[in-house]
Amino acid sequence: MDRETFRRYGHEFVDWIADYFDQVEDYPVRSRVKPGEIMDCLPETPPAGGEPMDRIFNDFKSIIMPGITHWQHPGWFAYFPANNSPASVLAELLTAGLGAQCMIWQTSPAATELEEVVMEWLRQMTGLPAGMKGVIQDTASTATLCALLTAREKATGFESNRTGISGKLVVYASEEAHSSIDKAVKIAGYGIENLRNIAADRNFALVPGELEKAVQKDLDAGLKPACVVATLGTTSSAANDPLDEIGRICRRFNLWLHVDAAYGGTAALLEEKRAMLKGAEAIDSYVFNPHKWMLTNFDCSAYYVRDEALLTRTFEIHPEYLKTGQDAEVKNYRDWGIQLGRRFRALKLWFVIRSYGVEGLQAVIHEHLRLAALFKSWVEEDRCFELMAPVHYSLVCFRHVKEGAPEEELARLNAALLEKVNESGKVFLTHTSLKGKYAIRMAIGQRATTEKHVRQAWEIIREHSA
Ligand SMILES: *Cc1c(COP(=O)(O)O)cnc(C)c1O
Repeated sequence: MDRETFRRYGHEFVDWIADYFDQVEDYPVRSRVKPGEIMDCLPETPPAGGEPMDRIFNDFKSIIMPGITHWQHPGWFAYFPANNSPASVLAELLTAGLGAQCMIWQTSPAATELEEVVMEWLRQMTGLPAGMKGVIQDTASTATLCALLTAREKATGFESNRTGISGKLVVYASEEAHSSIDKAVKIAGYGIENLRNIAADRNFALVPGELEKAVQKDLDAGLKPACVVATLGTTSSAANDPLDEIGRICRRFNLWLHVDAAYGGTAALLEEKRAMLKGAEAIDSYVFNPHKWMLTNFDCSAYYVRDEALLTRTFEIHPEYLKTGQDAEVKNYRDWGIQLGRRFRALKLWFVIRSYGVEGLQAVIHEHLRLAALFKSWVEEDRCFELMAPVHYSLVCFRHVKEGAPEEELARLNAALLEKVNESGKVFLTHTSLKGKYAIRMAIGQRATTEKHVRQAWEIIREHSA
């Protein structure tokens, strides 16, 4: 592609994205295609010769767009948000243009140093303990895997890296913890049979007494308790595990404490939400996702550790071809995680934080929390609905109720209601199971969502439940 063509389409694409932000509401939130429908529109073999950009872009609009589910739609209430922002998208464009690999300081000093600075900004912004050091990972799943690997090395005096794992190390997490914990336990070699799913209370938070009992039982059986994963903002209902008490148990038994705050962590931008971080001094590692709720487009996961040496000792490598004269003076982020090649993700975070300012970001989160509280009040006031979990953040779990109906019927009714609501194309919500009960999740956190959209969602839900 020649320079002039690149320039022309560059302008056209930015115009297209700007229009998309304005018009995203005109699309059905959830894609309406059937399985295989997109594939049927695509040739089975690649083109031998190059095609003009016009044709490629037209196919993007006519073939790809119908198969897109619109996460940036203000009627997005499914899963958790993965919101973006104009500042973030522009920075991502620059990152792609630079095409820099940010594995060591020398491969782009600005990328390394900016990452160090914005991670420290973010630490201050969310009230994490001073001295915790951050690194950007692609996802919370990867960050949690890093945590479990470091915990494994610490528990075995770095022997597992050398001789392999013994099969005796144990990990603890609440039964409400995210599936990425299971995955990391498997990949890190603990073995899924050595993950203890600790009971949660009626508010879906881990019961510390149960954790303590489980640790003691494993010790008595000759196993080696190694790591506890606490969650702030569980995926099903956004429950908070009691960090303070869990931290005390971890200190007593010398266990690694990893905190998964993938979604909830962003709320700590607000002073009034920091109570959940009480006891944070005991945290060994912590992850939250600016790519979920902090207007920074995927992927950008903030991973913090208390002892950077344990992390780098777990991952460090020293091949001759990567040695530089500055190694003693600088950070080489290749040693802070699994990948060698790294994207320049700090740039978009820098753009977002500067473009909104801390107060601008706080205002966005504050408004989402207000909208969730409003939605919760509507659920509570309506006899045909019930609240299914406490609301700590911007997630409301609820269901439609019918006098005397057994659980199975309620599950069927609510699943049918959810499908009808989603077919409207105006909103998209998803469901979960809480202590065996079907619950609909209303997760508020899209950048463009306003009270109007939340009211509309409630009207659609009530209309279809009638
Ligand atoms: C979303 C979520 C994850 C997974 O996040 P990824 O960045 O997609 O890996 C993990 N834990 C919790 C609590 C989550 O809500």
